[in-house]
Amino acid sequence: MPIVKDFFIALSNNTFLNNAAKNIGPVLGANKVVAGNTIPKLLDTIEQLNAKGISVTVDNLGEFVATKGEALKAKEQILEIMAAIYDHQLDAHMSVKLSQLGAEFDIELAYDNLREILLKAHEYDNMHINIDTEKYDSLFAITQTLDRLKGEFKNVGTVIQAYLYKADALVDKYPELRLRMVKGAYKEEQNIAYQTKEEIDENYIHLVEKRLKNAKHLTSIATHDDRIINHVKQFVRDNKIERDRFEFQMLYGFRSELAEAIAKEGYQFCIYVPYGDDWFGYFMRRLAERPQNINLAIKEFIKPQFVKKAGLFTGSLVVTGLALKYLSKRGK
Ligand SMILES: Cc1cc2nc3c(=O)[nH]c(=O)nc-3n(C[C@H](O)[C@H](O)[C@H](O)COP(=O)(O)OP(=O)(O)OC[C@H]3O[C@@H](n4cnc5c(N)ncnc54)[C@H](O)[C@@H]3O)c2cc1C
Repeated sequence: MPIVKDFFIALSNNTFLNNAAKNIGPVLGANKVVAGNTIPKLLDTIEQLNAKGISVTVDNLGEFVATKGEALKAKEQILEIMAAIYDHQLDAHMSVKLSQLGAEFDIELAYDNLREILLKAHEYDNMHINIDTEKYDSLFAITQTLDRLKGEFKNVGTVIQAYLYKADALVDKYPELRLRMVKGAYKEEQNIAYQTKEEIDENYIHLVEKRLKNAKHLTSIATHDDRIINHVKQFVRDNKIERDRFEFQMLYGFRSELAEAIAKEGYQFCIYVPYGDDWFGYFMRRLAERPQNINLAIKEFIKPQFVKKAGLFTGSLVVTGLALKYLSKRGK
């Protein structure tokens, strides 16, 4: 039901709630999908995943960066995480958002920040740096920045959002870069993006197949959709595509058993691990994708300590979410 998706996307974009949530810390079940807010906790999570043969991409959570000071702080936090990963020789790399590095108000600042990150990553055994894709409005800044950096660095890549009509051209444009293939997490207008699940799934499969046939670098197939995962497994078998040319990716805390089972089958697997205080927008986008994820919140909500910690503001949010969930079920 689109109203449910729109509701959670609107919450994810709400600056007041995002800021308020930072002070409360991850509640509503977000603590199950965010790896804490201290480096030791993060390292512990990475170690546990590595021990299961799973690599990690870390996302230093952060939305609505509006000043140079905030962008520089985000860059420092990313460098600190990278140093910790390198010092502990963990199998992990970084996913960064250009908006967090200042792109929404100063693209040169974001470029300089990203270049500094890439130089350091190069020193750290050429650690990979992925530029996550965000709202369509920011796509031009991402491709422009990537085009400036891809000659100098081999450890930079980005994400293709299959809901965009433009996705096809982007897959063709970057065969030499490591790319992550996703369906797309934001709300986009119909003049730029497919709207129905059927169209998006169909384009996703088309793009993944094309990419796997033509790519000169690793392809990350990032989805929780077992139907698509099974399709890809069959496709690589039929086309004799080696397993070192692709990996599967999922988000931390979602479908963990399936992730571990796929890794045990001998496929490369990478988990996207969000880290830090700024959990709210990330978590609301996960609820927008799959309102059933609110089950995580229900479990938390019935604990007495929840209301004490989160206060009425978050409580009312859950009640509204549950009402929408109920309505969406009735609407089916
Ligand atoms: C590693 C990773 C990185 C990402 N990076 C970006 C990015 O940079 N930019 C961006 O726009 N988006 C990003 N996304 C989000 C992505 O665009 C989708 O919004 C998100 O992954 C939901 O789509 P899906 O393919 O996982 O499955 P959906 O289309 O949401 O679900 C399809 C089917 O999969 C099954 N399923 C899905 N989730 C579950 C679950 N939790 N439990 C049980 N069954 C489930 C169900 O059968 C469901 O019907 C990323 C996603 C991942 C996994």
